[in-house]
Amino acid sequence: MGKNIKRFYTISQSNLNIIARSEHNVSRKDISKSAIKVLYTLKDAGYEGYLVGGCVRDLLLGLKPKDFDVATNATPEQVKALFRNSRIIGRRFQIVHVRFGREIIEVTTFRGPHDDENLHVSDEGMLLRDNAYGTLEQDAWRRDFTINALYYTVKDFSIVDYTNGMADLKSKTIRMIGEPSIRFKEDPVRMLRAIRFAAKLNFKIQHDDEVSIKKALDENIHLLDAVSSARLFDEVLKLFMSGYAEAVYELLIKEDIYRRLLPFDHNTQTDFYIAFVKQGLANTDTRIQQEKPITPAFLFAVMLWPAVELLTKKLLTQQHTLYDSINIAGQEIIEQVNVRITIPKRFRYMMRDIWTLQVRLPGRVGRKAYKSLEQKRFRAGYDFLLLRSQVSDLLNMQNTNDVNQSSQVELNELCQWWTQFQIEPEENRKQMIKALPNNKPKRKKKKTNKVK
Ligand code: ATP
Ligand code: MG
Repeated sequence: MGKNIKRFYTISQSNLNIIARSEHNVSRKDISKSAIKVLYTLKDAGYEGYLVGGCVRDLLLGLKPKDFDVATNATPEQVKALFRNSRIIGRRFQIVHVRFGREIIEVTTFRGPHDDENLHVSDEGMLLRDNAYGTLEQDAWRRDFTINALYYTVKDFSIVDYTNGMADLKSKTIRMIGEPSIRFKEDPVRMLRAIRFAAKLNFKIQHDDEVSIKKALDENIHLLDAVSSARLFDEVLKLFMSGYAEAVYELLIKEDIYRRLLPFDHNTQTDFYIAFVKQGLANTDTRIQQEKPITPAFLFAVMLWPAVELLTKKLLTQQHTLYDSINIAGQEIIEQVNVRITIPKRFRYMMRDIWTLQVRLPGRVGRKAYKSLEQKRFRAGYDFLLLRSQVSDLLNMQNTNDVNQSSQVELNELCQWWTQFQIEPEENRKQMIKALPNNKPKRKKKKTNKVK
């Protein structure tokens, strides 16, 4: 018997807790109709079927679930046979996507402990494949945190709890199922998940008794380096694009994990830059609340800006022009990050446009302002400029590394100018350009250049 199996059986000698409908607040009216349909279809066909994971957790906490996941004892093929609009996906473990219009219900077959035949682990203990089916109880013990292992059934509308998840929900605790260090080694992404749930729910990361998640985080955080860069991109989006990015960022800084995700010089973590990233993320959270669109490009442009700005400044001292410096710096920093987190090309282009606009927007004489305005990414670049000035204002302090070497007042004025320029009619726009202090007739300017 493999080591892992023994572990699962010892910890799974749990006391099964069944919480009757009268003792919990999960109501059918809060559950997606499609998910209910899946549960009844499975039941009518003689299978077990449960809502599980984030949806049960969030419903119990009175939050609106992002999506609904179902666990069943039916195999993927059996599930597929029950639903017309379904397909089997995934390689590492097969799951079935059942589609109802735009909604997808993910149906997963109970997973069990690995036996020697299908246990595939790397030298570091990372699970490479685990596709053994199991029972409901085994499935519960395979999940990451106790609050994510609660099951809701339409058989009697009760909640099934093998891991003491209800108690942890009540005490607002993120507790690992099993030994944190082993579970992090199996899948290092669980470390980011711990942070994500703690931030989202405002729960504390368990750290009081002998098995401390916090301690295990410290010891295993380097394993994040082994996670594929494509998966890290997905996880980073989940961390920062779910509406609680500011809280996530604060936790990542506090637990000293942020440095692991974006490994840059410590100068990128000055008070000013931390405030800058925090404000950018807070703005993203607000946009999500207001149901405005957000793009990963802006998010990454914000998170990488400290590194880009610092490198730009360094390049400037090496005889490059400002425009070239920011371009080279942008390219370089993106390349460094890309090794760990694959940012798709379309976002990379947009990030560079946002950054170069930061050195373009101050230049407004002649046709320059019009040219910037016509740029596809003008709006994002302008929003970014606003963010830069907003942060200086908030802190009432100047960024000593500002690429344009502009004072806080200048930055504010520049923002105001652009805000106005966008809404003014043509005639007034011309006046605005004319009124710029550094607006000299073109010929004169050329002459001065020649003299130089
Ligand atoms: P969210 O609200 O972000 O959707 P969630 O808990 O539903 O949170 P999912 O990524 O949708 O998170 O995963 C669904 C469930 O699958 C989790 O609640 C957990 O039980 C299980 N799970 C997901 N990822 C892992 C993992 N890496 N290791 C163990 N269990 C996992
Ligand atoms: Mg989910």
